[in-house]
Order: sequence, then C-alpha cells, then structure tokens
Amino acid sequence: MADKNNSLGFDTTCIRGGHTQESNRAHLTPIYASSTYTFDNAEQAIAVFKGQEEGYIYGRWGNPTVTEAEEKIALLEAYGIKDKNGEPLQLKALLHASGMAAMCTMLLGNIKAGQKIITHYSLYGGTHELVEKILPDLGIEAMIVDFHDLEKVEEAIKADKSISLMHIETPANPTLQCVDLEALAALGKRCGLTVCVDNTFATPYLQQPFRYDVDYVMHSTTKFLNGHGTLIGGVVIGRDIEKMSKGITKTHRLLGGNSNAFEAFLLVNGLRTFGLRMDRHCSNAQRVAEFLQGNAGVEKVNYLGLVSHPDHATCKKQMKNGGAMLSFELKGGFDAGVNFINKLKMCTNAVSLGTCDTLVCHAASTTHLGVAREQRLAFGITDGLIRMSVGIENIEDIINDLQQAITTPKP
Ligand SMILES: *Cc1c(COP(=O)(O)O)cnc(C)c1O
Repeated sequence: MADKNNSLGFDTTCIRGGHTQESNRAHLTPIYASSTYTFDNAEQAIAVFKGQEEGYIYGRWGNPTVTEAEEKIALLEAYGIKDKNGEPLQLKALLHASGMAAMCTMLLGNIKAGQKIITHYSLYGGTHELVEKILPDLGIEAMIVDFHDLEKVEEAIKADKSISLMHIETPANPTLQCVDLEALAALGKRCGLTVCVDNTFATPYLQQPFRYDVDYVMHSTTKFLNGHGTLIGGVVIGRDIEKMSKGITKTHRLLGGNSNAFEAFLLVNGLRTFGLRMDRHCSNAQRVAEFLQGNAGVEKVNYLGLVSHPDHATCKKQMKNGGAMLSFELKGGFDAGVNFINKLKMCTNAVSLGTCDTLVCHAASTTHLGVAREQRLAFGITDGLIRMSVGIENIEDIINDLQQAITTPKP
C-alpha cells in the first residue's frame, strides 16, 4: 500500500511507495495497455465523471501503471518533509512523455501572454531553446539573470511587474554550477512569483527543493530516476494539490504530453533500486573526481564534492553530497578531447546521463559542435571539456579506463 504518512525509510519508499494491490492480485503492477475504461452502468459513469467516485476514464487522463510511478515520485520528493501543520507533506505528481513535455505543462499552466519568466544561464539546452525560440512567439518573454547575484535578481524582479515565474536549475551543465535554493525560493515567494526547480541532476536523493518555499519541481525521468536508459519521460510535482488536480491536470490532459503504461512500468522498475544506485553513483563520482584532480593530463575538474569547486559551500548546504555528474578539461584542447574519446575501452561515448553505465561526452565535438566557439567558451564549454555521468560499475574499472585514455602532455 502507498504509505501516505511516509514513515518508511527512503529505500523502502523507492521499492514499495505508490503500490496498490490490483484486482487480479498480480505481485507487481502490470502494464495496463488499455486506452479506455469501462463502466458498470450509466449511474457509475456519471459518478466517475463528476469525480464522486474514483475511476479511470481514458488513457490520456490517467492509467494505473502511470499512477504508481507518479505516487512513488511524489513520496520521494516529499520524503521526510513536514507541511506548515507539522504533518507529512503531500505532493501531487503528473507523469509526462518527456522532461520537455513536463516543462511545457508547468509553464503553460502557470503563465500567459504578457507575463515574463525570470531564469538564469546554463539551463538545459532544450529548456533554453524553448524559452528563447518558442515562448516569445506566445507573448512570454524570459529575463536571464545571474542567480548567484541575489541583489541583481531582486532588482530585476522589482523593476518589472510582469515577471510572474522563477525557473531554477541546480546543479546545471556544464560546470555543475549550483545556486542557493533557499535564498532564491524565499526571494521569489516574497515577490509573489511562482517558483519551479528542475531537479533532474540532483534527484530527490541528493536535494529536495520542497524543503524550501518552491511551488513545483520537475524532472526528466529519462535520467537517474529511470537509471537504465530505457525510456524518455518527465514529471511535474506540485505542492498545491488543488491547483495540481484542477488547472495543471487540465493543461496536462489538453496539451497531450501524457506518459504511457510501458514507460511508466520501466520507470517504476528502475525506481526500486534508486537509492542504492545513487549511493554508488555518488561515491564513484567522488573517487573519479579525486583521481582526475591528481592527473597530469587534466587542467581542471568541475565536481561539487571537491572543495575547489566555487559552489562547494552551496552544495554542502542543500545537497547530500557532490552527486554523480562532473566535467573536466583536458590539457591539449580539442584534439586531446577527440583523442581521449577514441581511446576509451569501456566508458560509453554518448550524450544523456543517469544510466548505470558511465557516459562520457566531448561537448565541443558533439552537443556544441554547431555553436560558435566564442559563445561556447562563454558558457564554460572549453575545447577539451569532457562531461561525465559516473556509472555504478566497479570504481577500479572506471578509473583504469580513464587512466589509459588520458594522454599526459610531454613536459
Ligand atoms: C534531459 C533534461 C531535460 C529534458 O528532458 P527530456 O526527457 O529529454 O525531455 C530537462 N532538464 C534537464 C536538466 C535534463 O537533463
């Protein structure tokens, strides 16, 4: 049974949270591959349509496998948090076809033409493009400010009354910048804004934005939550249950970015080992960062768990540890990056993140190949920058592979 009081441990919640016994007594929730649902009679249909009786109606509106994934994620984001009355925090999650679909529901469910959003640099590429290329045509402009500078953020909000939503992504690509969630959420709420956090990189294992005054958390479930690289998905989780159940659910259903039973099943299955996986991802990442820091072929390591990272203090304040993501600059620029990728024997050369296997990507020759060099450098994406999503393999194997692939420059 779902444990609404959330008195169980985090790993237990990963395994059991959100599960309800279905009528055929299958041990695990099956893949409900059905587009529509039946009614006993006209009266029951009326009761379900009126919301007087719980029941599924149509697959775009809801599906039992999808519900289990949503409840599990809501429990994890709320884990150990109390509401204003000292009761376990209740949250509502809506599962989507992708992280970008979740982002669209959150944005279009909260802002309208003429209103603005305030956000910062180094957003996920897709979010950045959505904000720059799609939203302006709908009459929604974005103001981009450095979220490390709280005074500037406050000035910007106070100078423009049309700003209504703050979108925060922390930590963020490519240098794992981290901004102060508590301070930004407090400022946003003090100024009457809706506050949303993209928690994809950190996950609820490392960081729970609902501990602060935020309204929404969103994820690309494609990443650590699934953990196996087997699906594309996203989720929006909200604190205001009434608004989530009405306005946001309506937006979700009408925009049509719903998830499906098969991918929800893969997500539920992946989430069972989420806590265990994250333990290993993070301890491996710390070891890899320490190894790279001492390597003669490496110019610089960006990892939040290292005291050398400029945002290490903010990370310590709001995250359990430095996480599973890091990046590093190879000495020798673009060619060193290409060489390194070609010499790897085990680590996977791919974009994305959060899978059991270690993923490595040379930004300048892949994700940012089409971006002008000056612009890419301004984002911190130097010629030899390698991004790593550290996997859960045996640490010796990861380090051995990196060691043999890094060329030490001749003195
Ligand atoms: C991947 C990602 C997204 C987009 O998610 P999709 O599932 O690819 O649509 C959004 N934010 C962050 C931080 C991501 O890493």
